[in-house]
Amino acid sequence: MKCNYCSNEAVYHRKISNEYVCKIHFIKTIEKKIRKTIRKYRMFSPKDKVVVGLSGGKDSLVLLYNILELQKRYSDSPIVEAILIDEGIEGYRTESIDIAERMCREWKTPLHIVLIKNIFGKSIDGLIPNLKDLNVNACTICGTVRRRLLNDKAFELGADCLAIGHNLDDQIETFLQNIVRNDLKQILLHPPNGNVKSDKKEIIKRIKPLMAIPEAEITLYCYYKEIPIQVTPCPYVEGYYILRKKIQDFINILGNQSPEIKYNLLTMNEKLIEQVSINYLKKELDQKPKKNGVCKVCQMSCGLNRDICYYCELKKELNLN
Ligand code: SF4
Ligand SMILES: [Zn+2]
Ligand SMILES: [Zn+2]
Repeated sequence: MKCNYCSNEAVYHRKISNEYVCKIHFIKTIEKKIRKTIRKYRMFSPKDKVVVGLSGGKDSLVLLYNILELQKRYSDSPIVEAILIDEGIEGYRTESIDIAERMCREWKTPLHIVLIKNIFGKSIDGLIPNLKDLNVNACTICGTVRRRLLNDKAFELGADCLAIGHNLDDQIETFLQNIVRNDLKQILLHPPNGNVKSDKKEIIKRIKPLMAIPEAEITLYCYYKEIPIQVTPCPYVEGYYILRKKIQDFINILGNQSPEIKYNLLTMNEKLIEQVSINYLKKELDQKPKKNGVCKVCQMSCGLNRDICYYCELKKELNLN
């Protein structure tokens, strides 16, 4: 089969649009889609300082590469920088730090590595023995701390936005996971484009430019662009991901039969947020008017029904700095 855009042989069939593409046009269509998402949601403009949260995994590297290429087109764009949070997980982080350092060197991008242990007093490995009593898993702690440290470092670097490498599969898995958990608030807090509005300058706008790209296409893009992929899995991943893995399998079974399903879920995620958020927040304000939504400890946003944010609560319960 020939490519729809040139006379080369096609290497990929994009079922959703029934497009056949060669290697060159596969790469071009992915990059175009990322730019289109950035434009559609007005994620950033050439004059904005963009900081990319690197996990060392394929998604965030693809994201960094594309943002660098985009900002390079404008001579007055601020330098794009990258942040990597080192959780201190033995045997897992070393490989991704290695990859991130190598690619940032190649792409001439400043990389800032933040050690959880230096800020939080203990690494994730060091916290594991304390978790049983709290009935939380490693990922809850790791995710909460990582989000905060990424935000704080991005703020310190003067970022206008923090780009995160969530792809289409990540987004709809999170959406369905929150549906089965009956957790509307989490759905509202995780919009597909990443942006949760805040008046506080310390809370950096988050963006997800890969939100419309399926994971399988990102993997193929990495292969063609020779972007390395980490192979070592996190040792704590299994317990946390049991539900997520089942949801992932479910979506993939449906997606194989009807390729539009993933995009339908993404659209539904957006529509639901649009329709529900105003009423939901209004109701919450009516019911719980006493709290101002600011954490008493760190002064960051914490939701209208809390006195302190989850990050500070964890620190308190774990007796950390
Ligand atoms: S799997 Fe869990 S513990 Fe491991 S890096 Fe991811 S969030 Fe952290
Ligand atoms: Zn082609
Ligand atoms: Zn707090």
